[in-house]
Amino acid sequence: MDASIREMPDLEMALLRRGLDDLAAAEERCGRCRRTLLVGEYVHVYDGDRIVCDLCRERERKPPVTVRLVHGPAFGHTIRIIDQRAAA
Ligand SMILES: [Zn+2]
Repeated sequence: MDASIREMPDLEMALLRRGLDDLAAAEERCGRCRRTLLVGEYVHVYDGDRIVCDLCRERERKPPVTVRLVHGPAFGHTIRIIDQRAAA
């Protein structure tokens, strides 16, 4: 019993670190205005993987290579994608 009580702070710290790592990894920013992009927002990808938000898109001269949704950190872990069709 004493051992499990002693180990709890380590477990809490590990979970906290993992949560912060997930947040940092998931954070994407617009290449123009540096705004943190929101989950579910459409972003426009230009060559070189440069990402521009919907608000800044009109300032770009060239059309984007692709448009995609911003996903949360749980994407691919909690949601199983079974639709294998190519994205439109
Ligand atoms: Zn922007």
